[in-house]
Formats: sequence, C-alpha cells, structure tokens
Amino acid sequence: MSPVRGALEAISRSALPRLVAVLPLSATVMDRYVAGETVRDALLAVEELAAEGIETTVDHLGADPADETQAIAAVQAYRILLDKIGDAGLGHRAEVSVSPTAIGLLLPEGEKLAIENARKICRAAHSAGTSVTLAMGDHTTVDATLAVAQALRHDFPGTGITLQAHLHRTESDCRTLTYAGSRVRICKGAGDAPAEVAFTDPGDVDRSYVRCMKVLLDGDGYPMLATHDPRLVEIAGALASRYGRAPGTYEYQLRHGVRPAEQRRLAASGERVRVYLPYGEERHRYVAQRLAEHPQSLSQVLASLVRRG
Ligand SMILES: Cc1cc2nc3c(=O)[nH]c(=O)nc-3n(C[C@H](O)[C@H](O)[C@H](O)COP(=O)(O)OP(=O)(O)OC[C@H]3O[C@@H](n4cnc5c(N)ncnc54)[C@H](O)[C@@H]3O)c2cc1C
Repeated sequence: MSPVRGALEAISRSALPRLVAVLPLSATVMDRYVAGETVRDALLAVEELAAEGIETTVDHLGADPADETQAIAAVQAYRILLDKIGDAGLGHRAEVSVSPTAIGLLLPEGEKLAIENARKICRAAHSAGTSVTLAMGDHTTVDATLAVAQALRHDFPGTGITLQAHLHRTESDCRTLTYAGSRVRICKGAGDAPAEVAFTDPGDVDRSYVRCMKVLLDGDGYPMLATHDPRLVEIAGALASRYGRAPGTYEYQLRHGVRPAEQRRLAASGERVRVYLPYGEERHRYVAQRLAEHPQSLSQVLASLVRRG
C-alpha cells in the first residue's frame, strides 16, 4: 500500500469530504467527472458521447436553495439547458436529472413548491423532445419525492424516479412501480442511512439491488440500472436474458468519468447506455464527493499534488 493511501485510510470517512473540498483540483481531474461549467460545455460533452453511441442524463450542479428565489433560479438553469438541447436536436440523446431538493423540496411547503418547479422543467423537457428523471435524496425525502413524481406523471408520464437499494422499503417501492411506461432508476444509494431503515452491510445492499433488478426487469416498466459494480452489471445481463428483455427495453447508467471503458464496451455490445453528466458552478464540490467515495482515485490525486509540491 502506498504511504498516501495508508494515510487516507487512517482518516475517518466523515472527515474525507471536508479534506477533499479544500484540495486544489487540476483541470484534468475536474474534466474527468464533469462536463464543465456552462451549458455549452454540457452540450459538447453530450455530442461527444452521442458520437460513441452513449446517451446522457444531464444534471445542473447548483447549491441547495436557501429560499424560493434560488429554487426558481435552478429551474431557469434547466429551462435554458433544455431549450439548447431542443435547438440542437439532441432531445433523443439527452434527458435531464433533477434533484427535488435543488428546486425547493426542503423549503417551507417544499412538496408543493417542488411539484410546481418540476412541472416547469418537465414542460421544457417535453418541448425539447426529452424527459426528466428525479434524483433521490436521503431517506427522509423518499415519500415526498415519490409524491412529486406521482403528481408529475399525470401530465408527464415519462418522468423517471430514482430508488435506492440500500433502503429496506425499496424492493416494495419497486413492486408498485412496475407498470407500463414507468421509468425507474435503481442505484445502491449514496451516503449512510440508519440501520432502522437501511441495510448497512455492503453485501446486503448488493443482494437488495439484485432483488430490485429482478422485480423491475420482470415487470412492465423501463428499468434504468445505475451502477458501476462489475458484478452487478454481469448479473443484470443474466437477468435481462432470463426475463426476455431485449437491449433497449432497459438501460445501464454510469457516471461520467467512472469506468469509461466499460461504458464503451456495453454500448458496443448493443446495450443502451446513459451517462450521468453533471455541469455547473458547484462542480468542485461534486468532484470532491466522487474522490472521497473512491479513495483509490483520491490517492492518485494526492500523490500528484505531493510530486508537484
Ligand atoms: C446514473 C446514476 C444516478 C445516481 N443517482 C443517485 C440518486 O439519485 N441518489 C442516490 O442516493 N445515489 C445516486 N447514485 C449513486 C449511487 O447510489 C451509488 O452511490 C454510486 O453509484 C456507487 O455505487 P455503485 O453501484 O457504483 O457501487 P460501488 O460498490 O460504490 O462501486 C463499484 C465499483 O465502481 C467503481 N467506482 C464507483 N465509484 C467510483 C468513483 N467515484 N470513481 C472511480 N470508480 C468508482 C469502483 O471500481 C468500485 O469498486 C447514482 C449513480 C448513478 C450511476
């Protein structure tokens, strides 16, 4: 083990994001994980990935809003993005990911506000010929996020939702969302959740992920399998065959910059692959989180800083 990696392992998991947040990250490291700062940067990356047969779900990275005005500013950022996606004729290549918390879910009367704001984004997405998938925040926001999705689906049935396999409830939530046209992104779940509501052993999370995939692939909806885990990707392929799912009736999703060779391999094998592509002002914080969750990448960054110094 390298000295840098050893030092990292001695730092507590909770302290790691704070440490990484103050690191001077090089453009190379930033470019690996995010498209850039502007809408133009995002569209260029969408086009580059489209040329490789890879679709995208674009996320505008902004700070969580402190008031309604800031939440509306986030909506405006998505409208501008979606107008440009529509103008460029990229609606069949790029959809958008929206965090309900970024558009006001945690503010007073947050559910109502998030529905109003998400509706505006869905309308812009519809005009651009594409759709919206709602991201999922921590376990305290699941009911509200499901309620937002349900309200939107009335007018925008293609609105997707993200579920987190680490929560005990998720297999059951998957079962209620297996109807035709239902777009469900299943991920392991970011961050820690308490043992009363979540599996805390990584093996249990993986087993829950497999159960959720079974429910979704066996159902009538459109599963979006968001994981970089090689074992789960392999199991996904086997389950898709078992349930008679042709490529394109489900899709794989991975983050921009994570296992890019695997993204290309899956796309080249005829699978539908969508990359989560963030851009915007808050990109330093996002990249810091990616590095903190993968100490191997972080140790490479720290080693290069030591060499530079
Ligand atoms: C498209 C997409 C959308 C998501 N949306 C949400 C959401 O709405 N809510 C939510 O809670 N979570 C979301 N997540 C995050 C998800 O919950 C996991 O935290 C994350 O994907 C890591 O889990 P994993 O399945 O890749 O497995 P892990 O066990 O974490 O990783 C498996 C392997 O992938 C590789 N890997 C993983 N992360 C990195 C990295 N940062 N850098 C380099 N290699 C890495 C490593 O080789 C690792 O061994 C999303 C993830 C994706 C891909």
